Order: sequence, then structure tokens, then C-alpha cells
Amino acid sequence: MDNPIVAIVGRPNVGKSTLFNKIVGKRISIVDNLPGVTRDRIYADAEWLNRGFTLIDTGGIEVDVKNEIHQQVKYQAEVAINTADVIIFLVDAKEGLTPSDQEVAELLRRSAKPIILAANKVDNFNDIPEGIYDFFALGFGEPVMISSALGLNIGDLLDRVVERFQKIEKIKYGEDVIKVAVVGKPNVGKSSLINAILGEERVIVSDIPGTTRDAVDTPFEKNGQKYVFIDTAGIRKKSKISESIEYYSVLRGFKAIERADIVLIVIDALEGITEQDKKISGFAHDTGKASIIVVNKWDLIEKDHTTMDKYRKDIRNKLAFMQYAPIIFVSVKTGKRVTRILDLVKFVSDQYSMRIQTSILNRIISDAVAVVEPPSFKGRKLKVYYVTQSSTRPPTFNFFVNDPNLIHFSYQRYLENQLRASFGLEGTPLKFYFKKR
Ligand code: GDP
Ligand code: GDP
Repeated sequence: MDNPIVAIVGRPNVGKSTLFNKIVGKRISIVDNLPGVTRDRIYADAEWLNRGFTLIDTGGIEVDVKNEIHQQVKYQAEVAINTADVIIFLVDAKEGLTPSDQEVAELLRRSAKPIILAANKVDNFNDIPEGIYDFFALGFGEPVMISSALGLNIGDLLDRVVERFQKIEKIKYGEDVIKVAVVGKPNVGKSSLINAILGEERVIVSDIPGTTRDAVDTPFEKNGQKYVFIDTAGIRKKSKISESIEYYSVLRGFKAIERADIVLIVIDALEGITEQDKKISGFAHDTGKASIIVVNKWDLIEKDHTTMDKYRKDIRNKLAFMQYAPIIFVSVKTGKRVTRILDLVKFVSDQYSMRIQTSILNRIISDAVAVVEPPSFKGRKLKVYYVTQSSTRPPTFNFFVNDPNLIHFSYQRYLENQLRASFGLEGTPLKFYFKKR
């Protein structure tokens, strides 16, 4: 988890996708169809020297087919700058330096991200193209010469990439700080919402000593509770270009969720739950984060006394795996219920960190087992001997049983519902492990 992101950037035809395939090889773990993506595979997990990373082929990101090529390349470079931890800037040694290379370089130079220049299509190291020296003028030092097609020197390139990982410092926050990711499609009102919360009375926006203006997080305090909005740099002073790329916002959302405790899934009331929201919510659930669904722009909905209930049901249907997430209907525009969001975050954080006394836990579970008989299979019945809570954030339970194979999904859900009925545990997923005693 929390792999660094490496992006390959460069004008069309320099060999980005060839290099991507070479590095990723057969170890592809993510294949995804995201909006605005033209290639089958655009990001995948890879590994070098035991260091895992996520590789992105930015050449597959398309903003708008009507755009001119050089606009596309600019968009792609911007995605890389905003998303990646390390950028591979690929040029074509056979073709030599072109004005498009210079355009890309211009954009990359403005970013603080580590950039590694690689000259591709050097298929024969005894016959290095003359033009290679021109690339020094780009200002990224000596290019690493590679041949993606033949797989030459790719190891050297990856050595340099991995070297830069060590220099990426991730700020760590104490357990007393509630880490909040605000995610959702472009234009749902994420930045408006964040700014509204930060502008609330009694919210004190603090500086973390030692961080620069590049800091991606926004720490603050309210009523003595410390919070931090994760990865808000791109949202608060946002660039309209990259925010309009859905793909980019999904990936950015994933990264923020990995570092967060609580995820605010922001939805546009007029639009409802989209495919992208399902992806992001699924990721939050799978990675064991607590979630709150924030339906924004509630002012734009024509309402009667049934509207909210209908809306709630619709969300429950579409995000069926996330019945536990509280839903709050707000309008940043009118300010309606905005001040309640932080209280809800604090509440959910407490649920997420809940530790249940073992004796009470076992009493609830044995009552539950007495009321609804456990499943049997081929004449053998599941026996639950005892339960312990092994950890929090999210609450995680070990069930010691006669045979873990006898547990059935629906019975597990029943037990989960019993725990929720007794302890609340609102907003948080629960993890259950069944072990043979
Ligand atoms: P992209 O548009 O930057 O993703 O470029 P592609 O990966 O699609 O490659 C463009 C063309 O360059 C294809 O015809 C590749 O076969 C070719 N190519 C890629 N890498 C190399 C290489 O190392 N050597 C040679 N000779 N050709 C390459
Ligand atoms: P982001 O891309 O998710 O950060 O969205 P923004 O915060 O930039 O908001 C997108 C647009 O929605 C802006 O024009 C906001 O003024 C507008 N907006 C945000 N919240 C609300 C709301 O509660 N009601 C209405 N009507 N518009 C809103």
C-alpha cells in the first residue's frame, strides 16, 4: 500500500507505451477502464529491487479527442506533475530533440518533482545517435540511454527511479490527528466544502513546522481536536485542467484515501452516485477506511417531505457494501448543515477507534448465536468458541471457531449486524477473521 507513483511523460511516439509494457511485464495487477483513458492498460503495479511502485503511462490519458496533439501532451504532463512522485521524461534518440520535447520540458521544469530524462530507441550502444547531446539542453542532465523495444538499460533507468523514492518523505501524523480525505468527481464542490469548513468559527488552520508551500495537506484544529485534510493542495489551489480529467481525480482520490482515516465522499445532489463514486467508495471500503457520504448542492433539489428518504434509499442501493456510512445532505452555497460535518467526522473517528470489552463482546456474540443457529455443512455445525478484538481503525475481530470453512457470508453479515446493533460502529467497516481453535 501507499506505493510511490512513477509516470512516463513524453510526446507521442517516443515509446512510452513500449517502455510501460517492458517494465510492467506480466506482473500486472491493476487493469481498469476509466473514463478518458484510451489504452487498455494505463497503470499497473511494478517492482524493482524489492521496491513496489505504481507505473502510469500518461500517453493513454485523453482529455478530449477534439484537442490538438500538443494540448494532449500538456494535459498528460500536468497529470504527471500533480500525481507522480517521480517522472520519467522520455525522448526519442533516433528522432532527436524536437520542439514538442521542449514544450514538455518547459512544463516539467516548473514542478518540484524529481525528473529522470531517458533517451529511448538507442538500440545499439556502439552506434549512439549524434543528436543525443542536444537533449542536455533540456536541463535535466545526462539522459539515460535505453531501448524499450530491446529491453536495453531498463535496469539502469529503474535504479535511478528507485533511488529517488528514498527522498520522498511522507509526513506522519500522530494518532491524535484525524486524517480526512475529501474525494469525489470534479465540480461536486470539494474545494468549496473544504474552504467552508476551514472558514468556520473556532476552526484554527495551523502550520506544520518544517513544511513548505508545496505541502499537500491542510492541518487544522477545532475544539481541541486536531484534524488534517489529506492532499488538499491540488484541490484548494486547483488547476482547472487537471481537475477536469476524471482519471486523474480517481487516482488522486485513491492516493489520498490510502493516507486517511476518514473519507468524505462528496456527491453532487443533481447527479447522484456515479460509476466513479462507486470505484472510490469501493476502494475506501476495501482498504478499511471509515466513510461519510456528503450529498452537496442540496439547495438545487426540489424537495418535499419524502425527497431525502428516497435519495437515501437510492444511495443505499447503489453503494450496497457501505450501509454503515452516514449520509449527510448539505449545501455549501447556503451553508446548510456544513457546520455539522466536522462533528460527524469526530463521531465516526471515535467509532472507527472503538475498542469493545472482551466480556461484553462475547456476551453479544453468544446471544446472537443462540438466537440464530449457525450454518452447518454436511452435518457439521459451526461452533463459535470465543471472540477477541485484535485491533481498531477499523475494528477487527478474531472469531475462534471449530472450522473456518463452515462460516457462511450471510451468517457473517448477521453477526456483523448484531455487533452494529449493540455498539453502533457507524461509518466504519469491520474486519472479521475466522480461526480454527
Ligand atoms: P508512445 O506513443 O510514446 O506510447 O510510443 P509507442 O510505445 O507506441 O512507440 C512508438 C513507436 O516506436 C512504435 O512503433 C514502437 O515500436 C517504437 N519503439 C518503441 N521503443 C523503441 C525502441 O526502443 N527502439 C525502436 N527502434 N523503436 C521503438
Ligand atoms: P470541486 O471541483 O469538487 O472542488 O468543486 P468546486 O468546489 O470547485 O465547486 C464546483 C462548482 O459548484 C462551483 O461553481 C461552486 O460554486 C459550486 N457549488 C459548490 N457547492 C455548491 C452548493 O452547495 N450549491 C450550489 N448550487 N453550487 C455549489
